[in-house]
Amino acid sequence: MGKVKVAVIGVGHLGKFHAKKFTEIPSAELFAIVDINPERIKETLDLLKEKGSSVKTFTNYKEVIPFVDAVSIVTPTITHYEIAKDFLFAGKAVFLEKPLAHELSLAEELVEISIKKNLPLQVGYIERFQEPVKKLLQNVKNPLFIEAHRLSSFTERNLDIDVILDLMIHDLDLALLLKNYKKIEFIHAVGAPLFTPLPDIVNARIVFEDGTTCNFTASRVSLNRQRKFRVFSKGAYYVVDTIEKSYLEVRVDLQKREYKLDKKSFPESDPLKEELESFIKCITNGEKVKVTGESALKSLELAFQIKKQVENNLKKYL
Ligand code: NAD
Repeated sequence: MGKVKVAVIGVGHLGKFHAKKFTEIPSAELFAIVDINPERIKETLDLLKEKGSSVKTFTNYKEVIPFVDAVSIVTPTITHYEIAKDFLFAGKAVFLEKPLAHELSLAEELVEISIKKNLPLQVGYIERFQEPVKKLLQNVKNPLFIEAHRLSSFTERNLDIDVILDLMIHDLDLALLLKNYKKIEFIHAVGAPLFTPLPDIVNARIVFEDGTTCNFTASRVSLNRQRKFRVFSKGAYYVVDTIEKSYLEVRVDLQKREYKLDKKSFPESDPLKEELESFIKCITNGEKVKVTGESALKSLELAFQIKKQVENNLKKYL
């Protein structure tokens, strides 16, 4: 097949980089960018100028549907369902940013449509394409305790969802992957709305049926940015930092009574390009979708369980 004709819907903070990356993927053709805000379109055209791209522009996503093979949807979460559904019904491959949708039933419906129509539906869990995370997923055996800190400073973006769906969901996805989707036995979560009406900071303790315990903190109102994922297992400790793009493995040499450190960094890696390239390969080479709608549904389900706990605790104690 020739080049895959792609449109990017929503070229705000993240979507403009989706557009740029598609111009760097030889088997893709960035056919159009779409945004209801003409300012965002102008900014993206400026970004693409150096690539000599002759991309078309639209303000209504429906107009672009007949012209493309695939779409990348990078709009606010409350719009995901409607836009993704229209492209899936038209038989197009869909890359959808996380979280799948703002309601579980809508997310389930999207996954169901993609399965029925046998169409690729890939979800934007970009952390899975980070080199240090890939190394972690390969090397960790039998985690006992997982701790994650995902902190951001406040911005006006993505306020249609709470910090669980916005940030914590990445760590939920990784924990579920590490635990091979084992059953969860216990959840305790607290959170507080600070700058918005929805929880902006949340801490959740999640215990899997085999005892593996997670302690996750996500905040979008912090002074500093942090992306740390730590795993403890018998005799080993791992730290992944996806801002530093580093991986640290600490093992204990019991005979010498000392630590053995293995630190690696991956400054040149480009997880967004890799993620979008993998999506294009599902269309050109029939490769399996790397982050399926089904797996994204699992972390969304867990996110909604945490959300419920946070809401109940807020009602109970405030
Ligand atoms: P943003 O607000 O900067 O951009 C969203 C853009 O969508 C805006 O330019 C807006 O005008 C446009 N838009 C809104 N409704 C539209 C419609 N109906 N048709 C076309 N355009 C429309 O937000 P952002 O930070 O870029 O986030 C967008 C999405 O990406 C969200 O779902 C967010 O959760 C996700 N995201 C994922 C990651 C990640 O790590 N995977 C990181 C950031 C954001």
